[in-house]
Amino acid sequence: MEPVSPPQPPPECAQVVRQLWEYLDGRVDPESVAAIEEHLAECEGCRAFAAFEKRIVTTLSSLRGRHSDAGRLREDVLKVLREAGMGRDGGA
Ligand SMILES: [Zn+2]
Repeated sequence: MEPVSPPQPPPECAQVVRQLWEYLDGRVDPESVAAIEEHLAECEGCRAFAAFEKRIVTTLSSLRGRHSDAGRLREDVLKVLREAGMGRDGGA
């Protein structure tokens, strides 16, 4: 008997969500950018998530000037995202 699994995003969504941060930060290669944008164009869920994360990135970049500890800040944000049930790694 298999246990009832919680709702999981499709693998392609998990992939996009995982790369979204780097994408918004302009740190992915052009091929990945194309793949991500293609997915965002047809996936409403990921589009909403991208918009949400983009707000955070925008906030972060405005904070970066004041916060030298950007790595720590990112950890905090990722923690918030996880607690919100978003950006899960799909582990297990
Ligand atoms: Zn998606």
